[in-house]
Amino acid sequence: MAVKAPCQGEGCRRRAADGRARRRTADGGLLCRPCRERLDAGLAELTHLYEECGRMLAGAAPAGLRERTTGGDLPGLPFNGTAADVRAKMVSVLGSWSGLVAQERGFASPPRTVAALTAFLRRNGEWLAAHPAAAEATEEIARLVRAGRRAAFPEQARSIRLGACPRPGCAGSLTVAVRAGAPDAGPGADGAVVCDADPEHRWTSDRWSELSRTMDSGGESGTPGPAATERWLTAADIARLWHTSTGTVYRLASEQRWRRRNRAGRTYYNETDVRTCFDRRAAARA
Ligand SMILES: [Zn+2]
Ligand SMILES: [Zn+2]
Repeated sequence: MAVKAPCQGEGCRRRAADGRARRRTADGGLLCRPCRERLDAGLAELTHLYEECGRMLAGAAPAGLRERTTGGDLPGLPFNGTAADVRAKMVSVLGSWSGLVAQERGFASPPRTVAALTAFLRRNGEWLAAHPAAAEATEEIARLVRAGRRAAFPEQARSIRLGACPRPGCAGSLTVAVRAGAPDAGPGADGAVVCDADPEHRWTSDRWSELSRTMDSGGESGTPGPAATERWLTAADIARLWHTSTGTVYRLASEQRWRRRNRAGRTYYNETDVRTCFDRRAAARA
């Protein structure tokens, strides 16, 4: 049996950067099983992200979610430029990896569409994982996925406004810091609820239910504030705030008939309905 070397994949490089050990390679390739699966999942996701970016070309992001850009796009400018660039980048990067596979294996090159290119690369995933350039392939695919998520879901790469800070006398607004490009970040690194006026006003997202109720009742001072504003969240926001999968969110949304709204081709769910549902589930478990 061959000696198993440390994995060269993007996931293990990040682990090493965090001071953790790289996993061992699997199946004679240069990648460990999770990095190999991640490469495959990244390719599968790119097909969807390419289409989501196409949707961004047709319509701008919902206005309410564009107020707090943390850099990059100028307020008021559509994200179309970014989405178009990312789509072109997907075709060119996937095209060059497919070209390498086709050339070295003597296969015909697939058509230059993202669906065909990703399908071709996934079929050759095992081979790619054993290629000397496997590490680079995982890096580039992961980078494309991150860029695609940022372009397709700009509101997740930035922050989502949740409402007025409930701390007495504070004029700040709360946002949930969500970084779409950081799937490896541990719990808490992602999804923290922070006040834009005072960084000390900070809550972990698992306290969101409680915090949201405080905001509705006029804040911690007890003086009734302005009428509670209705909050609307995407499935991805809900998954982050309640630490669940988007699949569970979609299932509960349809089972429990959460109120929903469509804006610019996106579905938003009524936060009160969502919170009630998760509170009930938490109570049932307790
Ligand atoms: Zn690995
Ligand atoms: Zn505050």
